[in-house]
Amino acid sequence: MSEKPAPPPHLGSLVNALLDWYGRHARDLPWRRTRDPYAIWVSEVMLQQTQVKTVIPFWERWMREFPDLISLAEAPEDRVLKLWEGLGYYRRVRSLHQAAQNLKNDHGGRFPKDYETVLELPGIGRYTAGAICSIAWGQAVPILDGNIIRVFCRLGALAGDPKDPELNRMLWEQSKRWVETAAASGRPEACSHLNQALMEWGATVCTPRVPACDRCPLSAHCQARLQGRVEAFPELAARAKVTAREFVVALIEQRGRVWVRQRAADALNGGLWEFPNLEVEPGAAGGDLRLRSFFGEMNLQHWKPLTVVRHAITRYRVTQRAFASEWVGTVGELPGGGRWCREAELEALAMSSAHRRIARAWTGVRDRLHPD
Ligand code: SF4
Repeated sequence: MSEKPAPPPHLGSLVNALLDWYGRHARDLPWRRTRDPYAIWVSEVMLQQTQVKTVIPFWERWMREFPDLISLAEAPEDRVLKLWEGLGYYRRVRSLHQAAQNLKNDHGGRFPKDYETVLELPGIGRYTAGAICSIAWGQAVPILDGNIIRVFCRLGALAGDPKDPELNRMLWEQSKRWVETAAASGRPEACSHLNQALMEWGATVCTPRVPACDRCPLSAHCQARLQGRVEAFPELAARAKVTAREFVVALIEQRGRVWVRQRAADALNGGLWEFPNLEVEPGAAGGDLRLRSFFGEMNLQHWKPLTVVRHAITRYRVTQRAFASEWVGTVGELPGGGRWCREAELEALAMSSAHRRIARAWTGVRDRLHPD
């Protein structure tokens, strides 16, 4: 026999139930112990596309080195990128740095309270502005991210792709009604807690696969559960097809130094350091021959396979095949710009995770060849 649906609840009772649940189950996260908008902003930017447990040590280290807006605004970009190394999506941190500089120059180094002003900062969209203004300033402004889309779509069994403009607009409206209802409840820190409760509900209970409906504070009202179709919502459009990409990477060594170059500021991963590399046909053999033909004979000894690093970024599955060669003869310059870097200096440069793994593979080989 199917379960009898509960009568439609008043929104106030749903909001109260969620706030009560959050009061009992909120995780103790370091950025939840502060109302500093800067600290909350940093956490929100780090949490985009990165899990909480990964973010915690990054956030703590960041706050030790850049405890306030001014210290970030005044930091050299190389250092900012270095502290972000491992989090990926480096455009986020470049925007964060730029926004801190704008706030220092135009707002006396203070974080604005006005939502529209926050929204004008580089890298800050409606979600991040809403999160900062509700959590730090207690404002009744909505947020909507993948977690919240999922819980709302399941709760109401909402059909359609949430990226569809009409459904997306409805979801933002729903989020607004929830936070405004919380504000009207008169409960302490209602807007901050409501928005964080929505995030927490999606992240810890109403998860994408196998949601924990038995622990859900609103399960009695969940239309998707009552229909036995929780996994059918949200009705996301098919993901973009995964595309394979492959690169050959050149580790060119000379007397304990290695050639590195810096990516252009406006490129993907702009400002990061890397080893010279070429994109090749995925699966094609002869990466070392491609390097030989690119660099010519140029005083380089034959190329030896060093390591293969595989990683995923957005819809790309990337393979990086690294080869090592030694520059013999007098010191020279390589095509494409860059500089020789001592092994000990490599660790201080900001690199993508893939190139950092290649660097460590190289230093590991060197350690074996030249033990102390
Ligand atoms: S009952 Fe299950 S599917 Fe419905 S909102 Fe709760 S956790 Fe999500």
